[in-house]
Amino acid sequence: MNLLTLTIKEARRALQSKEFSAVELVRAYIDRIQTHDSKLGAFLTVDESGALSQAKRADAQIAKGITKKLLGIPVACKDLYSTRAVRTTAGAKIIDTYKPPYNATVVDRYLEAGAILMGKTNEDAWGHGSSGENSDYFPTRNPYDTTHVPGGSSSGSAVAVAAGFSLVGTGTDTGSSIRLPASFCNIVGMKPTYGRVPRYGVISMASSFDTIGHMTRTVYDNALVYEVTAGADPRDATTPQVPVPMYTESLGKSLKGLRAGIPKEYFRSNGIDKGVREVTMTAIGKLESLGMRVEEISLPHTEYAMACYYVLVPSEISSNLSRYDGVRFGATRDTFGAEAKRRIMLGTHALSAGYYDAFYHKAAKVRTLIKQDFEKALEKVDVILAPVSPTPPFKLGEKVNDPLAMYLSDIFVCPVNIAGVPALSVPCGFAGILPIGLQIIGKQFGEQLLYQVASAYENETEWYKKPAIL
Ligand code: GLN
Repeated sequence: MNLLTLTIKEARRALQSKEFSAVELVRAYIDRIQTHDSKLGAFLTVDESGALSQAKRADAQIAKGITKKLLGIPVACKDLYSTRAVRTTAGAKIIDTYKPPYNATVVDRYLEAGAILMGKTNEDAWGHGSSGENSDYFPTRNPYDTTHVPGGSSSGSAVAVAAGFSLVGTGTDTGSSIRLPASFCNIVGMKPTYGRVPRYGVISMASSFDTIGHMTRTVYDNALVYEVTAGADPRDATTPQVPVPMYTESLGKSLKGLRAGIPKEYFRSNGIDKGVREVTMTAIGKLESLGMRVEEISLPHTEYAMACYYVLVPSEISSNLSRYDGVRFGATRDTFGAEAKRRIMLGTHALSAGYYDAFYHKAAKVRTLIKQDFEKALEKVDVILAPVSPTPPFKLGEKVNDPLAMYLSDIFVCPVNIAGVPALSVPCGFAGILPIGLQIIGKQFGEQLLYQVASAYENETEWYKKPAIL
């Protein structure tokens, strides 16, 4: 088995036909993590004994002829996900030794589907970041070029998939954190519709923005995992009773007659790198050749999105982080890192009496305008096509001391979180050896169409077949 190219689809077939066992698969991943992860920094905790005992259980079920969607499939879990009795740090030393007494709903869903939890992955502390460098532990590196960042904040999960340490990497996307690392690591990442996947048990960053998703090597794999994770949860009142379709069934359908919108504001901005623009336009041309009708659209409030995000998100962060006061989660000698402190101060200021109307309340109104931009555009077109990041993966250290430059990496992705709609990143080419992703944005609960478009594109281009060299 070649772990750098293996997909869930192939692994399921091989497990069922007894080509290899789940125990062999897990051992191979653990060996690979031990050999290569010191160069990459993807994992904070590897649960070797837990993974092996789950693999034994999976093998016993396979022997009995039991089939489940993810039976025997390894999953690397972002450290924001609560995992029962397995250390959960959120990438933050202030809760370094915390072991949750319960699983997040989505972790239970993975386990019920037969998946194997390999361990917990590194991330920007609390999800605050776009590069993976804000972890309180160590930065994660891009497996395509270790002098470059893998994208954040779900940095370790993306690297775990790209470097052949796992078949699924779980993530959260509050403003970029699944799509950016997926695009920087040549894998597929889905940011769900807000409320499609339960947040219960995933450590909150900004509750009205947080979405719970995952990264995989291919579109099929991604759709299959989504069938497991999506759906209402009585413990999360923001998950509506919208039926979960069989996402894998939309794959392979023709794109003829579908309409795609290209936001003029995204392509006219000076901030977009020439190489990224070219690769994105080529990808859009490919979709046109597959039968899509492409037209220019406008998202007129785009220029206010970052300001809106960086008032509302820190406000929610300052409220959510106030619970880590040493009472409930144990006191350590560590304090919040610089980025968390910056956001607590920004948010507390925006919410304080006298400033609330000028900042928080105004930003909430802008949020409505941005949401309406997407609603209006998506009345005319079926999907919106856009870059994920304005630049290819940047160098470690390049932006870490310039918060504003770092925040601007999210300029094409965070408006989607403000609007609450779904968006997917699919590999669409390279700048030299560095991967680039195409963003496909859709209507609320319209993930099926995003998978359909992405899979047609993937079938034609197969960028995912160019693995990292390790
Ligand atoms: N990069 C964004 C931020 O730092 C979003 C992070 C996320 O999606 N968790 O806020």
